[in-house]
Amino acid sequence: MFVGHYAAAFALKGKEKSLSLGALFLAVQFVDILFFPFVLAGIEHLKFEEHYTAVNNFNMYFYPFTHGFAGTLFWSVLWCFLYYYGFAKAKKNRKKIAIFMALAVLSHWFADLIVHTPDLPIVYGEPKLGFGLWHYKFATFAIEAILLFLGLYYYLKNTKPIKKAGKYLAIVFVLFLIFINYLNLYVLPENKDMVSLTISALLSYFLFALIAKYVDKFRV
Ligand SMILES: [Zn+2]
Repeated sequence: MFVGHYAAAFALKGKEKSLSLGALFLAVQFVDILFFPFVLAGIEHLKFEEHYTAVNNFNMYFYPFTHGFAGTLFWSVLWCFLYYYGFAKAKKNRKKIAIFMALAVLSHWFADLIVHTPDLPIVYGEPKLGFGLWHYKFATFAIEAILLFLGLYYYLKNTKPIKKAGKYLAIVFVLFLIFINYLNLYVLPENKDMVSLTISALLSYFLFALIAKYVDKFRV
């Protein structure tokens, strides 16, 4: 899953206003942020196979450290500690912040579960899980858009605009994310080069997080 992960970021921000939407955007993609460099470093493995699914050519046959349930849980616990003892140390509700950031990291696995082919390990090898929505291109596009709209709706319902721009910026941003996903699924050619794939993935994750941070400044 790509932009659909941000639904969890919007929803968690709607639930707990003291969280940073920008940081949540990084948290929900954190295991992917690790995955691409891990593949480049030879720690995890991805093979490009033409028409592997209807939406991409990724055969991710070995990635337990980032996409195993136990692996994702490990990173989410790490985020919990980082926030509790670090970033949120001075905050009154640091426990809640730490738990919510951990939930954001963990949400990635459950969102991936919907679309991935059975390639997500529980721990290391078999059994591997995945409902395989990636075999259906339009369904993949639709589910990501629906999730995003639900997350956005909850965020808008639970926050208020502080300037005029606050009324529509988040909506424009979500439409932009869905447009990027449209390009990704329907327009851009399949990627066959791991280095350029890593660069474009990481750039988009960090760019989206920066935009989210900016957009969120207009709502309280
Ligand atoms: Zn992923």
